[in-house]
Amino acid sequence: MNFIPYGKQNITQDDIDVVVKTLKSDYLTTGPKVKEFEDAIAKFSDVKYCVAVSNGTTALHLASLVLLNKGDKVLTTPNSFLATSNSILYVGAKPIFVDITKDGNIDLDLCEEELKKDSTIKAIYAVAFSGNPLNQGRLKHLRETYKVAILEDCAHAIGAAYNGIKAGSCANSDMSIFSFHPVKHITTAEGGAITTNSKEIYEKLLMLRAHGMVKTPDMKPWEYEMRELGYNYRITDIQCALGLSQLNRLESFIARRKEIAKTYDSAFKGTIVQPLYTFDGNSSYHLYVVLVDFTKINVSKEELFIKLREKGIGIQLHYIPINKQPYYKNLGYGNEHTPVMDKYYEECFSLPMYPSLSDEEQDYVIKTLLEVLNG
Ligand SMILES: *Cc1c(COP(=O)(O)O)cnc(C)c1O
Repeated sequence: MNFIPYGKQNITQDDIDVVVKTLKSDYLTTGPKVKEFEDAIAKFSDVKYCVAVSNGTTALHLASLVLLNKGDKVLTTPNSFLATSNSILYVGAKPIFVDITKDGNIDLDLCEEELKKDSTIKAIYAVAFSGNPLNQGRLKHLRETYKVAILEDCAHAIGAAYNGIKAGSCANSDMSIFSFHPVKHITTAEGGAITTNSKEIYEKLLMLRAHGMVKTPDMKPWEYEMRELGYNYRITDIQCALGLSQLNRLESFIARRKEIAKTYDSAFKGTIVQPLYTFDGNSSYHLYVVLVDFTKINVSKEELFIKLREKGIGIQLHYIPINKQPYYKNLGYGNEHTPVMDKYYEECFSLPMYPSLSDEEQDYVIKTLLEVLNG
């Protein structure tokens, strides 16, 4: 059996063909495929506007440039990839780490307590962790009551829905972001997108993606104006052609991920392996996270990782608490009261989850994991 990683892209001959076709076309970048991809993402996500960019991190950076000013306070989660809170630091704003709930998402009740204590808090950066959508009722309440800006990091969650409200639809947020890194649901190799329902935000994002430049019909043919300090965060037509082709298969990818999740759920019933949450139809399962109480068994988490790797299985851990990273500790973070996150970090790891994982491979993962854990 080949090595089984925790996540893996799915590339077909159709994907390859559209990439080659784009390479032979007149536009490698800033051509028609970019807008076509943006329109397709917007349609899929039930949202008005989409801006595609070079990766998920630059999507977060542009969103932060629009939402935040220097010194602004932002509530965010320790349970994410570094980029979520790094993007707050990029613009000189200040992340405040809030504990998570048992499902791995930021605790929105604790966010409300913070908002009650400090009315100067500007925004909440929440992550739909593992593909589990954020509680839209709570977001709506916080947004309306405290006039706080909300950014949804949906890097894990394209195709997820909370009571029919799609991830990235920005029904109760100012912006959402996606990532199209190869481990995510669909890939453009590197790539990302920002979605919004605000025309004003959309136009600002377009400008910031391209050096802060504006060109209007009333200008002379050679003229352009730089109005903000922007960046080159463009995505190429080659990447967008791949993204469009991948998007055609997204529904089937998610259906397969859900099938894999249900099989894991039932295999672990009555064992020491506890799914982070069980199937309820909402999550799009970027990750399948499980919890094991290592204090009750004779195998350490480190031994488990090493032994499974020897047996050809690449489990992963999502995530090391961001506030406990050395860079953040140097800024004075790391001692926040986050008991749920701390316990979660002791117990969590992620199992292989990707559409091309075969039934036999999954059975092998389940059998081997339980064997190693039972020592
Ligand atoms: C992957 C990821 C990002 C960053 O996306 P890139 O495309 O790798 O820059 C941001 N947030 C979360 C939650 C992610 O998983």
